[in-house]
Amino acid sequence: MITKRTYFGKEFETFIDEIEIREMVKVLAEQINNDYADKKEEIVIVSILDGSFIFVADLVRRLRFDHKLDFVKIKSYEGTKSRGKVEHLLELSASTEGKHILVVEDIIDTGLTIDAFIGKIKGQKPVSLKVCALFSKPEVHNDIIPIDYLGREIPPCFIIGYGLDINGEGRHLKDIYQLVT
Ligand code: 5GP
Repeated sequence: MITKRTYFGKEFETFIDEIEIREMVKVLAEQINNDYADKKEEIVIVSILDGSFIFVADLVRRLRFDHKLDFVKIKSYEGTKSRGKVEHLLELSASTEGKHILVVEDIIDTGLTIDAFIGKIKGQKPVSLKVCALFSKPEVHNDIIPIDYLGREIPPCFIIGYGLDINGEGRHLKDIYQLVT
Protein backbone atom coordinates (compact mmCIF):
# COMPACT_ATOMS: atom_id res chain seq x y z
CA MET A 1 0.00 0.00 0.00
CA ILE A 2 1.36 3.42 -0.95
CA THR A 3 1.28 6.09 1.78
CA LYS A 4 1.57 9.76 0.90
CA ARG A 5 2.96 12.72 2.90
CA THR A 6 3.31 16.37 2.04
CA TYR A 7 6.15 18.67 3.18
CA PHE A 8 6.52 22.28 2.07
CA GLY A 9 3.87 21.74 -0.61
CA LYS A 10 5.77 18.79 -2.11
CA GLU A 11 4.18 15.36 -2.29
CA PHE A 12 6.08 12.23 -1.24
CA GLU A 13 5.06 8.56 -1.45
CA THR A 14 6.45 5.39 0.13
CA PHE A 15 9.36 3.90 -1.79
CA ILE A 16 11.34 1.46 0.45
CA ASP A 17 9.71 0.08 3.57
CA GLU A 18 11.26 -0.41 6.99
CA ILE A 19 11.46 -4.19 6.62
CA GLU A 20 13.63 -3.86 3.52
CA ILE A 21 15.78 -1.22 5.22
CA ARG A 22 16.30 -3.50 8.25
CA GLU A 23 17.39 -6.32 5.93
CA MET A 24 19.82 -4.03 4.10
CA VAL A 25 21.39 -2.90 7.38
CA LYS A 26 21.69 -6.52 8.54
CA VAL A 27 23.48 -7.59 5.35
CA LEU A 28 25.86 -4.60 5.52
CA ALA A 29 26.67 -5.32 9.18
CA GLU A 30 27.48 -8.96 8.34
CA GLN A 31 29.87 -7.93 5.55
CA ILE A 32 31.58 -5.42 7.87
CA ASN A 33 31.77 -7.95 10.73
CA ASN A 34 33.52 -10.41 8.42
CA ASP A 35 36.05 -7.84 7.22
CA TYR A 36 36.88 -6.14 10.52
CA ALA A 37 36.79 -8.98 13.04
CA ASP A 38 40.55 -9.61 13.07
CA LYS A 39 41.90 -6.06 12.88
CA LYS A 40 44.69 -5.30 15.35
CA GLU A 41 44.67 -1.51 15.08
CA GLU A 42 41.94 0.76 16.42
CA ILE A 43 38.76 0.94 14.34
CA VAL A 44 36.87 4.22 14.07
CA ILE A 45 33.46 4.49 12.48
CA VAL A 46 32.82 8.01 11.24
CA SER A 47 29.19 9.00 10.80
CA ILE A 48 28.50 11.88 8.45
CA LEU A 49 25.76 13.95 10.08
CA ASP A 50 22.98 14.74 9.97
CA GLY A 51 21.39 12.22 7.63
CA SER A 52 23.23 9.08 8.78
CA PHE A 53 22.32 9.27 12.49
CA ILE A 54 19.60 6.59 12.39
CA PHE A 55 21.47 4.36 9.95
CA VAL A 56 24.69 4.43 11.98
CA ALA A 57 22.79 3.76 15.24
CA ASP A 58 21.19 0.65 13.73
CA LEU A 59 24.42 -0.44 12.04
CA VAL A 60 26.80 -0.23 15.01
CA ARG A 61 24.43 -2.19 17.24
CA ARG A 62 24.89 -5.12 14.87
CA LEU A 63 28.72 -4.94 14.91
CA ARG A 64 30.50 -7.55 17.00
CA PHE A 65 33.95 -5.93 17.20
CA ASP A 66 35.03 -3.07 19.45
CA HIS A 67 35.31 0.30 17.80
CA LYS A 68 35.04 4.02 18.43
CA LEU A 69 32.33 6.15 16.90
CA ASP A 70 33.03 9.69 15.74
CA PHE A 71 30.85 12.27 13.98
CA VAL A 72 31.44 14.93 11.38
CA LYS A 73 28.92 17.33 10.02
CA ILE A 74 29.15 18.26 6.38
CA LYS A 75 26.50 20.25 4.57
CA SER A 76 25.99 20.12 0.82
CA TYR A 77 22.23 20.05 0.33
CA GLU A 78 19.68 22.87 0.55
CA GLY A 79 16.07 21.69 0.25
CA THR A 80 15.94 19.08 -2.52
CA LYS A 81 19.12 20.14 -4.36
CA SER A 82 22.89 19.79 -3.97
CA ARG A 83 24.53 23.21 -3.62
CA GLY A 84 27.61 21.99 -5.49
CA LYS A 85 29.92 22.92 -2.60
CA VAL A 86 30.53 21.51 0.87
CA GLU A 87 30.79 23.14 4.26
CA HIS A 88 32.52 21.40 7.20
CA LEU A 89 30.43 22.25 10.26
CA LEU A 90 31.85 19.70 12.74
CA GLU A 91 35.32 18.14 12.53
CA LEU A 92 36.63 14.76 13.73
CA SER A 93 37.47 14.74 17.43
CA ALA A 94 40.74 12.75 16.99
CA SER A 95 43.40 12.08 14.37
CA THR A 96 42.87 9.12 12.03
CA GLU A 97 46.56 8.22 11.80
CA GLY A 98 47.29 4.52 12.34
CA LYS A 99 43.60 3.61 12.55
CA HIS A 100 41.09 1.78 10.39
CA ILE A 101 38.49 4.33 9.29
CA LEU A 102 35.05 3.32 8.08
CA VAL A 103 33.01 6.29 6.88
CA VAL A 104 29.25 5.89 7.10
CA GLU A 105 27.12 8.01 4.77
CA ASP A 106 23.34 7.89 4.36
CA ILE A 107 23.28 8.56 0.64
CA ILE A 108 25.78 9.33 -2.09
CA ASP A 109 24.36 11.63 -4.74
CA THR A 110 26.92 13.78 -6.58
CA GLY A 111 29.65 12.25 -4.40
CA LEU A 112 30.91 15.71 -3.46
CA THR A 113 30.47 15.25 0.30
CA ILE A 114 32.20 11.88 0.58
CA ASP A 115 34.92 12.94 -1.84
CA ALA A 116 35.71 16.08 0.17
CA PHE A 117 35.84 14.15 3.43
CA ILE A 118 37.95 11.30 2.10
CA GLY A 119 40.37 13.73 0.48
CA LYS A 120 40.75 15.42 3.84
CA ILE A 121 41.59 12.34 5.90
CA LYS A 122 43.62 10.41 3.32
CA GLY A 123 46.60 12.61 4.09
CA GLN A 124 46.40 11.74 7.81
CA LYS A 125 47.70 8.20 7.08
CA PRO A 126 44.90 5.94 8.30
CA VAL A 127 45.76 2.20 8.05
CA SER A 128 42.68 1.72 5.90
CA LEU A 129 39.86 3.91 4.68
CA LYS A 130 36.54 2.48 3.53
CA VAL A 131 33.08 3.81 2.74
CA CYS A 132 29.71 2.39 3.71
CA ALA A 133 26.57 3.99 2.27
CA LEU A 134 22.95 2.96 2.60
CA PHE A 135 21.97 4.46 -0.76
CA SER A 136 23.76 5.57 -3.90
CA LYS A 137 22.58 7.35 -7.04
CA PRO A 138 25.13 6.04 -9.61
CA GLU A 139 23.44 7.91 -12.45
CA VAL A 140 24.28 11.18 -10.68
CA HIS A 141 27.89 10.49 -9.68
CA ASN A 142 28.56 8.35 -12.79
CA ASP A 143 29.87 5.49 -10.64
CA ILE A 144 33.08 7.38 -9.90
CA ILE A 145 32.78 7.01 -6.14
CA PRO A 146 34.12 3.69 -4.85
CA ILE A 147 31.70 2.38 -2.21
CA ASP A 148 32.99 -0.61 -0.23
CA TYR A 149 29.66 -1.44 1.42
CA LEU A 150 26.44 -0.38 -0.28
CA GLY A 151 22.83 -0.98 0.77
CA ARG A 152 21.29 -0.37 -2.63
CA GLU A 153 21.36 1.81 -5.70
CA ILE A 154 18.44 4.11 -6.41
CA PRO A 155 17.51 6.24 -9.42
CA PRO A 156 18.21 9.99 -9.30
CA CYS A 157 15.15 10.83 -7.22
CA PHE A 158 14.89 12.80 -3.95
CA ILE A 159 14.10 10.71 -0.86
CA ILE A 160 13.30 11.36 2.79
CA GLY A 161 12.82 9.23 5.91
CA TYR A 162 15.07 7.01 8.06
CA GLY A 163 17.19 10.05 8.96
CA LEU A 164 16.96 11.83 5.61
CA ASP A 165 15.17 15.17 5.60
CA ILE A 166 13.68 17.95 3.59
CA ASN A 167 14.62 21.19 5.35
CA GLY A 168 14.72 19.37 8.70
CA GLU A 169 11.38 17.56 8.27
CA GLY A 170 10.76 13.87 7.67
CA ARG A 171 13.78 12.36 9.45
CA HIS A 172 11.58 10.37 11.84
CA LEU A 173 9.75 8.43 9.12
CA LYS A 174 10.42 4.70 9.39
CA ASP A 175 10.03 4.08 5.66
CA ILE A 176 11.81 5.86 2.82
CA TYR A 177 9.55 8.17 0.80
CA GLN A 178 10.33 9.58 -2.65
CA LEU A 179 9.36 12.93 -4.10
CA VAL A 180 6.53 12.55 -6.59
CA THR A 181 7.40 14.54 -9.69
P1 5GP B 1 26.40 14.51 -2.35
O1 5GP B 1 27.48 15.37 -1.78
O2 5GP B 1 26.82 13.09 -2.61
O3 5GP B 1 25.77 15.14 -3.58
O4 5GP B 1 25.22 14.50 -1.31
C1 5GP B 1 25.37 13.88 -0.09
C2 5GP B 1 24.46 14.46 0.96
O5 5GP B 1 23.37 15.19 0.40
C3 5GP B 1 23.84 13.33 1.76
O6 5GP B 1 24.62 13.06 2.88
C4 5GP B 1 22.49 13.90 2.11
O7 5GP B 1 22.59 14.67 3.30
C5 5GP B 1 22.15 14.81 0.98
N1 5GP B 1 21.32 14.11 -0.03
C6 5GP B 1 21.69 13.60 -1.22
N2 5GP B 1 20.66 13.03 -1.85
C7 5GP B 1 19.60 13.16 -1.02
C8 5GP B 1 18.23 12.75 -1.10
O8 5GP B 1 17.74 12.12 -2.05
N3 5GP B 1 17.46 13.07 -0.03
C9 5GP B 1 17.92 13.77 1.05
N4 5GP B 1 17.05 14.02 2.02
N5 5GP B 1 19.19 14.17 1.16
C10 5GP B 1 20.02 13.86 0.13
